[in-house]
Amino acid sequence: MPYDTQPTASHFIAGEYVEDTAGDPIDVVYPYTGKVIARVHAATPAIADRALQAASDAQAAWAAMTGTERGRILRRAADIMRERNHDLSVLESCDTGKPLSETTVADATSGADALEYFGGMAATITGEHIPLAGGDFVYTRREPLGVCVGIGAWNYPTQIACWKGAPALACGNTMVFKPSETTPLCALKVAEILTEAGAPPGVYNVVQGMGAVGASLITDPRVAKVSLTGSVPTGQKVYAAAAEGLRNVTMELGGKSPQVVFDDADLEDAVSGAILGNFYSTGQVCSNGTRVFVQRGLVDAFLTRLTERLADVVMGDPMDMATNFGPMVSARQRDLVEACIAKGKAAGARLVHGGNRPDREGFFLEPTVFADVTDDMALATDEIFGPVMSVLTFDTEEEALRRANATPYGLAASVFTKDLTRAHRMAAGFEAGTCYINTHNLAPVEAPFGGSKMSGVGRENSKAAIEFYTQIKGIYVAMNPVEAPF
Ligand code: NAD
Repeated sequence: MPYDTQPTASHFIAGEYVEDTAGDPIDVVYPYTGKVIARVHAATPAIADRALQAASDAQAAWAAMTGTERGRILRRAADIMRERNHDLSVLESCDTGKPLSETTVADATSGADALEYFGGMAATITGEHIPLAGGDFVYTRREPLGVCVGIGAWNYPTQIACWKGAPALACGNTMVFKPSETTPLCALKVAEILTEAGAPPGVYNVVQGMGAVGASLITDPRVAKVSLTGSVPTGQKVYAAAAEGLRNVTMELGGKSPQVVFDDADLEDAVSGAILGNFYSTGQVCSNGTRVFVQRGLVDAFLTRLTERLADVVMGDPMDMATNFGPMVSARQRDLVEACIAKGKAAGARLVHGGNRPDREGFFLEPTVFADVTDDMALATDEIFGPVMSVLTFDTEEEALRRANATPYGLAASVFTKDLTRAHRMAAGFEAGTCYINTHNLAPVEAPFGGSKMSGVGRENSKAAIEFYTQIKGIYVAMNPVEAPF
């Protein structure tokens, strides 16, 4: 490994790197080679306690700073992230296996966008004035929640650390972030950069560990909120644990999102959307449109053009800028997805493209397309979280919408059509938090992102995120004598 991937220490607490080798070792594996490139240690109870105490100790003073001051620090951190984009992108590629051609434009840059956006917003997070009868009035204060715990998935380790940290800090909270044990490296850089940008010690801390460390953080009495990005089963456990203390939550969970392509759609755009929504990051994206419903008249043309475009896949060394398709994050994830492909074949779906594990080093799987998928097949019901697209055929708009919504998930949904009114009808009818017309999978910081139904609670990004990192206090001001009954 030509890159220096071993972090200074496993954890980042109160403004500095901290090590405790008594914690269980976690090996970091480079998905392209299968070789160990770094080792960190899970947080012991003493480390978790130290991080929570640091966040707790720092919170009041951080909240007492003006929004302008907090925002300046976040925006400075955004600038540093952009200056170091190349090195951060290399680290992201080492951690996840995603190609550098992607990480250079989608990870530290997206994290920097969040820091800049919420940094800019910090000074505008204010209450309101509500006039009442007789000159009385209420004013509201939008106050921070306190110490927030962030828990990340492995697919976007830098982005997730920033999407949670930036709004939390902008609102005057402090954070203890636990990255996924599969990709523990990038969040440490976020903590380092925030500190360099002027965040006081304890404002943003990182501790490593498996699920048990995450679980231990959530129920600590010092914690006011937990924001998780992960699978639905983990979300159910974390939400239940948070409920015990009536803690606030944001849950960014899994999906089985539909992409509906009508026969009047721009074919090239629809195919591009399906590629973005199934194969970007080797299919390891929560909002992927993995159920591609294509209207009957367009199915053959769609599959032909899709297959042609898949000839341009360049699978290989993530550090080669020509590579546009990397390995999966881990051998385990590759094996899970392979099992889904086998199930699809056994169920009688028509394999149109891929379906194999290439004979090479690393956790690669070919981009895979199934056609003639029916709604009851596991291919169409289960979140696969890998490069597997299912194409389903439909006839009418009513049928497409009904089948698109026939899932317990509700993260994303897209419609491809040139019919303006149909596009908006579909968008209104989708039971999903994040919808697209004539594209799929974009997540700019300005737009709310999140799921309905089993895909989540709350929203990240946009002004909406502020609602989930603050609480409103109403203050009644009497301007008249108090009238009592006796
Ligand atoms: P996961 O649920 O296995 O783990 C997510 C995180 O939760 C990890 O850090 C893990 O250590 C932690 N965790 C596990 N059990 C826990 C417990 N009992 N208490 C506290 N923390 C616990 O998910 P993953 O495999 O890392 O990521 C893939 C999943 O994440 C997919 O389902 C995907 O759809 C989802 N995801 C959602 C979004 C979104 O924004 N909606 C984004 C990315 C990934």
